[in-house]
Amino acid sequence: MFQRSYHLLCPGPVNVDPEVSAAMSAFAFSHREEEFEALLDQVIARILGVAGVDPAVWSAVVLTGSGTAANEAVLASATSGDAPVLVLANGEFGERLGAISEVHNPRTTVLRQAWGTPFDLDRVAQAIRDVGPALVAMVQHETSTGMLNPVAEVGRLVRDAGAKLFVDAVSSFSADALDFDASGVSFVSTSSGKALGCYPGLSIVVARHADFETIAAEKPRAHYLDLGRYYRFARDRRQTPNTPAVPLLLALDRALELVLREGRDARRARFESLARIVRDRLRGLGLELLLEDWAPRSNVLTTALLPEDIDYGAFRAGLKSHGFVTYGGKGPLEGRAFQVSTVGAVDSDVLEVFFQAIGATLATLRGEGSRASMA
Ligand SMILES: *Cc1c(COP(=O)(O)O)cnc(C)c1O
Repeated sequence: MFQRSYHLLCPGPVNVDPEVSAAMSAFAFSHREEEFEALLDQVIARILGVAGVDPAVWSAVVLTGSGTAANEAVLASATSGDAPVLVLANGEFGERLGAISEVHNPRTTVLRQAWGTPFDLDRVAQAIRDVGPALVAMVQHETSTGMLNPVAEVGRLVRDAGAKLFVDAVSSFSADALDFDASGVSFVSTSSGKALGCYPGLSIVVARHADFETIAAEKPRAHYLDLGRYYRFARDRRQTPNTPAVPLLLALDRALELVLREGRDARRARFESLARIVRDRLRGLGLELLLEDWAPRSNVLTTALLPEDIDYGAFRAGLKSHGFVTYGGKGPLEGRAFQVSTVGAVDSDVLEVFFQAIGATLATLRGEGSRASMA
């Protein structure tokens, strides 16, 4: 039953700061009142603050829905539908962008590389020449492996080709650096429930006013997920088109305030140092990591390979009995790997207990206790 709380070492859901959970139920008001309009304004301003962009140039829309809602909104709104779209995939979430795009853009091409391998920029350049895309979509942090993809390098190729770049930063926003102005991005998606440290349920698209204006003037290809409608409502009425999850917006507002209070650079540095501790300690426990040190890795999570003699289901149950929840591998990594993320409210004391729990679980599953007593 659901009568216990866990340490969530997942990239999302995460344990939230007590200030964030308190904020969620701090006030009650209708979303058709001026209080909500002030809240929405503030949330948008704070998102742009966390993004490090000029509000005169950039804006944001907030949708009620998980990260996929933002991704689908971009892929259904940022193109005309008959234009070619190129999606880059080297993991589960790149694949999902491809699947969403195929629904909304029949002329979608997915350029695939093996999970956990960096994009070959020559192949990307060739694909851009072959496909002639109006939009290129990619994931910044491929959450299924932990790999950080080269947004600025792809951005240069996309810009030279006169196309727009959409970056799924759902898991990486505020944890890994992204230079909105210099890297050639046009659309960036993220969500409340990952590195921003809030509850899941809201998703966000950041883009330039000019791009939102273009979309807002075009014939919509979706209704609920029409970015143009969200932008027009915010611009003209400081409102959302439909009923928003106001308690989640209150929580997100506080989570964003905490990010800004900590400072963008300090926060990234903290996540980076936690990720380094996780990598060192997992190796110290004799575990092999999916991505070696030369690979570009996120500050969000680490994927460790499960030893051949360990069953993933039993390993996961063991960690859970110690109070820890981690994610297992997806796709080709299913049953072979697990992931440790430290973007939630977690400190080094909790992590210490976690590493002991891994050691104890591995020892139990290997029957080391019984072998030792027989010897
Ligand atoms: C979590 C995630 C998503 C969205 O997943 P939801 O379940 O809809 O929140 C999309 N892209 C990436 C890279 C993610 O990590």
